[in-house]
Amino acid sequence: MKILVLGGGVLGVSSAWYLAKSGHEVTVVERQPGVADETSYGNAGMLSYGYTVPWAAPGVPFKAIKWMLQDLAPILVSKSAFNAHTAGWMMKMLGQCTEDAYRVNKNRMLRISEYSRICMDRLTSELELDFDHRNKGTVELFRDQQKMDSIGADLASLRECGVEHEVIDHATCIQYEPALANVSEKFVGGLLFPKDGTGDCRKFTQHLAEYCKQIGVKFEFGTEIKALETRDNEIQSVVTSKGKMQADAYVLCMGSYSPMLVKPLGINLPIYPMKGYSLTLPIIDESKAPQSTVMDEAYKVAVTRFDDRIRVGGTAEIASFDLSLKSERRKPTEFVVSDLFPGAGDLENAEFWCGLRPMTPDSVPVIGKSPVKKLYMNTGHGTLGWTMSQGSAKLLADIVNEQETEVSTEGMSVSRYL
Ligand SMILES: Cc1cc2nc3c(=O)[nH]c(=O)nc-3n(C[C@H](O)[C@H](O)[C@H](O)COP(=O)(O)OP(=O)(O)OC[C@H]3O[C@@H](n4cnc5c(N)ncnc54)[C@H](O)[C@@H]3O)c2cc1C
Repeated sequence: MKILVLGGGVLGVSSAWYLAKSGHEVTVVERQPGVADETSYGNAGMLSYGYTVPWAAPGVPFKAIKWMLQDLAPILVSKSAFNAHTAGWMMKMLGQCTEDAYRVNKNRMLRISEYSRICMDRLTSELELDFDHRNKGTVELFRDQQKMDSIGADLASLRECGVEHEVIDHATCIQYEPALANVSEKFVGGLLFPKDGTGDCRKFTQHLAEYCKQIGVKFEFGTEIKALETRDNEIQSVVTSKGKMQADAYVLCMGSYSPMLVKPLGINLPIYPMKGYSLTLPIIDESKAPQSTVMDEAYKVAVTRFDDRIRVGGTAEIASFDLSLKSERRKPTEFVVSDLFPGAGDLENAEFWCGLRPMTPDSVPVIGKSPVKKLYMNTGHGTLGWTMSQGSAKLLADIVNEQETEVSTEGMSVSRYL
């Protein structure tokens, strides 16, 4: 089949890989001059297969208010972005904050994350991908004992979902992350996810795109996708800035911009652009740098090691599609990296970046067929698009090929919203 993949982020390129591997003639259509130039550019780099949690959880509405009021708030709401669309999405998300919804959503997410870990292992043994990859786990670090004593419900949920984890004491945190010995008074203990990994999502996507080219995938860069033309509920063509393009199937991978394309077709895709920030620092002192990912539970900021850089990511800002970089938003990431890993990186020469996480209200991505013939979706991966990329793309390819999938896709298609 001739297939057009719409969007060249990590989900688009990964989908193209699995589709082309199964024999299809694939073209990726992307408005940027290269792949992974939008949200897949500068994420926190966590392959958090175990640390996979929906944002909508019991107690979150109250916690969110507390977080918004705290110094270096992990959640921010920009007044200018607060309109009926934003309010509608937030109401949908609040509706997912029940015990039952949390359990269902977490199970669905973990299913994709765990499958993604398997698919990533297979891929990295098949291809020589250079993306600063490490498999050394995530340490969620607790700054106060009261908080650490209150994680019972989280542990029960991890046990229920079969996620490998370990509550670790102060000394064991230092064993995993020796540089934390320099700030030993700042934390009390941690939660270890030993199977998590790290890596530069953009480097991965760029490298995978090169392998895609080798098996015949074409890339149409600098091409704006404007609309989908349909007849009798079937896609006829995609209208782009370079003219109309036709195929036997179309895969929507446009991240936060996916809803705009399908709205005229009557599909209401509840994906919200949840803004986040990252800082990337060149390492100046190896001995003071992290080995893997340290997730600062108090500030919801992740500090991740790449080969010769440190990536620090966090903040959830409701700001619609505003991609402006406000200097005050550097503060939470700057504070956490300086507080936990002082002297490790060069803050003066750090790259400051922001991106829009394509968030669904239930945090579960949208993978599979759509109600319109020939149109498939692989989008809405929110906070965990890098983590879930490989499993999602393989599932998508199997669905297009009408093959049995290796894990259940129950609850993943857009039909759950329609
Ligand atoms: C601060 C931050 C930290 C994060 N940390 C992590 C993490 O540690 N681990 C993790 O797993 N995930 C993380 N994420 C989430 C992850 O980065 C995203 O889920 C993932 O990158 C989404 O990939 P995507 O391919 O769906 O979207 P994108 O990367 O945005 O790709 C969509 C592509 O579609 C193209 N496009 C859109 N509209 C059009 C159009 N009209 N015409 C042509 N092309 C178009 C865009 O140019 C873009 O290249 C983080 C995100 C942020 C913002």
